[in-house]
Amino acid sequence: MLWPEAPQFDVEKVVEACRAWLVSEGRYDTVSNRLQELKAGEKAYRAAGEKGRLLSLLLSYGQRQRHDRHAELLRNTYTTAFVQRAEGRQLYNAIKAAAIHGSCPLCGLQQVAQLDHHAPKADFPLLALTPLNLVPVCGPCNLGKSNKLATSATEEAFHPYFEDLGADRWLHAQIDAAEQVAVFEVRPPTGWDEVKRRRIVHHFESHDLASRYGEAAGSVVAKRRRRDADLLADTESPAEVRAHLRADAVSHAAYDPNSFETALLHALAESTWYLNGGMHLLYA
Ligand SMILES: [Zn+2]
Repeated sequence: MLWPEAPQFDVEKVVEACRAWLVSEGRYDTVSNRLQELKAGEKAYRAAGEKGRLLSLLLSYGQRQRHDRHAELLRNTYTTAFVQRAEGRQLYNAIKAAAIHGSCPLCGLQQVAQLDHHAPKADFPLLALTPLNLVPVCGPCNLGKSNKLATSATEEAFHPYFEDLGADRWLHAQIDAAEQVAVFEVRPPTGWDEVKRRRIVHHFESHDLASRYGEAAGSVVAKRRRRDADLLADTESPAEVRAHLRADAVSHAAYDPNSFETALLHALAESTWYLNGGMHLLYA
């Protein structure tokens, strides 16, 4: 997973970008009067995020924000002024554009299509306009993500702006020769603590990554089938095919150690069945 940089502007800039719409609704003063509070919330959000205590902070708010007297106004400001009006949309697009090569940070599979509120705006309207709470994601990942906040640390969603999963490999695949498909799975690195291990499994399951990666693998295999088959025919050496696959896997891993392609290439290189002719049958 490749994670984008956090937005470089704050909630005040977002409110200013929404000013024309708020003025037209006669609500600018209302939001402006809450600005110091929004800024304090943003500061607390950042501090908690940096310390790995974001979930505790959000849980400590309970239902307070949901029942805030301006909850609906703040949500509407987001969905109308920020998403749909030119000045807001410019900032919206800037956050989207931070995704590396436009790739969704949660799956690495599909292109970014929208922004997701890490802390759902239904429960946390005072964070609806906070840039740090807005993460670019693809459509399926946004749909897969629950609109409810996790209640336990082991189910907390990863926050791309605050967490670094490092270069450890946690995504793996194996080639199932009987079914002629690649099977993806999480193997959390041994050095990770129990909570992080369970969170990555939860991430994998809640975004349906086993089946989404399995489907995507078919197209990767289709595009390299001929090359691997020709190499085997030319050299009559499965070891030669393995060496090429390993070199490709290393190259993919340098870009993203946990992309589905990296896991797939490693799996192909380790599959004796694939190397000895299975390339003609896998996803065929
Ligand atoms: Zn995604």
